[in-house]
Amino acid sequence: MDSDTARGGTSGDGGHGGGRRGGAGGRSAGRPAPRVSRRGLLLGGAAAAVGTGAVLAQDELRRLWWQIPGVTKPREEGTLDHKGAEWTPASRANWRLADRPDDYRIDRVIIHVVQGSYPTALRVFKNPGHGAATHYVVRKDGHVAQMIRELDVAFHAGNRPFNERSVGIEHEGFVDRPEDFTAAMYEGSARLTAGICVRYGLPADREHIIGHVEVPGTDHTDPGPHWDWDRYLRLVRAALPAARTAHRG
Ligand SMILES: [Zn+2]
Repeated sequence: MDSDTARGGTSGDGGHGGGRRGGAGGRSAGRPAPRVSRRGLLLGGAAAAVGTGAVLAQDELRRLWWQIPGVTKPREEGTLDHKGAEWTPASRANWRLADRPDDYRIDRVIIHVVQGSYPTALRVFKNPGHGAATHYVVRKDGHVAQMIRELDVAFHAGNRPFNERSVGIEHEGFVDRPEDFTAAMYEGSARLTAGICVRYGLPADREHIIGHVEVPGTDHTDPGPHWDWDRYLRLVRAALPAARTAHRG
């Protein structure tokens, strides 16, 4: 659960969305340069690895494209990214409209633990005052709720670039109660994460599947010492073939 995510989310919003939208159709000449440099700063190591200005410029063009009114990917209320999930939307205040992976590359799954129950997580993520929500919440019996589309940016990591490039998954329970992390929950979550890895071409490893505790600047400790990473990664990898088959449709 995340009390600090408004910092990474709403404060992060100012630079991209509302304030700059008016100029998207017109004065393009003066705008790309500062946007490219901001992008470079945000991406940090990833931008350095990409290296060429041409790639960044193309990235910027995609970003401008989604800011043009009416030219976002078609979306319908209730559309799911994870087959079998239950759609129960988070408050619009707890996420940001985006067009991932075209405007922001998705390169991580971030694992959270609620420090509470499944109904509590759903309730607070539907509360516009909470300032945070994850894309998914997994219940102890393995049931998955999807609350935000993967193409949108959820405020969950307390770090703007990590929010922009990740999918967040909450798990019912408490970090200091290992018995909360049931076999059914591990399995349901692993199937979900395997699907995300397949959809965005992520390796199923600890570089791309991380805990909230590993996000730079966070003071959160979840999923905590009782989360069994070896077991979880084993389950994710075992679920990849089925996820690939489902993805091919
Ligand atoms: Zn968390």
